[in-house]
Amino acid sequence: MNIDVLTLFPAMFEGVFTSSILGKAREKGIVNLSTVNFRDFAGNKHNTVDDYPYGGGGGMVLKPDPIFAAVESLLDVPSSGSETVGEPVSTGAKPRVILMCPQGETFTQRKAEELSREEHLIFICGHYEGYDERIREHLVTDELSIGDYVLTGGELPAMVVIDSVVRLLPGVLGNEQSAVTDSFSTGLLEYPHYTRPVEFRGWTVPDVLISGHHANITEWRRLQSLYRTFKRRPELLENAELTDKEKRWLREKMAEEEGRQG
Ligand code: SAM
Repeated sequence: MNIDVLTLFPAMFEGVFTSSILGKAREKGIVNLSTVNFRDFAGNKHNTVDDYPYGGGGGMVLKPDPIFAAVESLLDVPSSGSETVGEPVSTGAKPRVILMCPQGETFTQRKAEELSREEHLIFICGHYEGYDERIREHLVTDELSIGDYVLTGGELPAMVVIDSVVRLLPGVLGNEQSAVTDSFSTGLLEYPHYTRPVEFRGWTVPDVLISGHHANITEWRRLQSLYRTFKRRPELLENAELTDKEKRWLREKMAEEEGRQG
């Protein structure tokens, strides 16, 4: 997969793109992560990428021309004259062009899975008041928000999305870190984890986990996952696939809870 990030602050990505799982994925050649400073495409004497909004009002607006030019430079040939972390490689595949924006579709694990099947992603990180609307209307394929709050720029949101996409690529996580049981991947929240020691300050690990009985452990984890989802994110259960036995167990738990509360 090739990922290009259009940003005015490429240095923000250096640590994230070269450390931990993302750094290893790059080293293994699974993903190519590059930054493009769209100020390099300003095309004017002062390298200006923003301007005052038509109609007045506060804040500066990102101009369309540098962002269009930067994206177009990535479509057929590797970018040039830009700061990069990694080498941009053109694949010829039609990229998804993703605008980071608090007004966009809220990012979810499903969206991460969808994006992980693409060959080329281009992220656009905004700053200041916002973007010229023509970028939104004529350049991008997706608008993504990481939540209902406003950050200074799109860099942190882009990092969040990229991290969650890259960890889903085959070969990025080892077996011991498999994403299969992660919260949301199964439609539910993940079950609780314990490690050594068996007893810590008088608090013990559930017996079943040290029983060595794999079928019982699997069942316990599944029920814990259901219960945790019911307690913390009950709306997720509406779309979860449950067996009849699991539904019965959950109904009993709900009745128990109601009994306790009432
Ligand atoms: N005036 C804009 C609005 O009200 O929608 C907010 C602009 S914000 C200060 C600057 C940039 O930060 C945005 O263009 C976007 O790239 C990024 N940003 C801020 N919050 C975000 C969020 N929740 N999700 C994704 N990107 C965000």
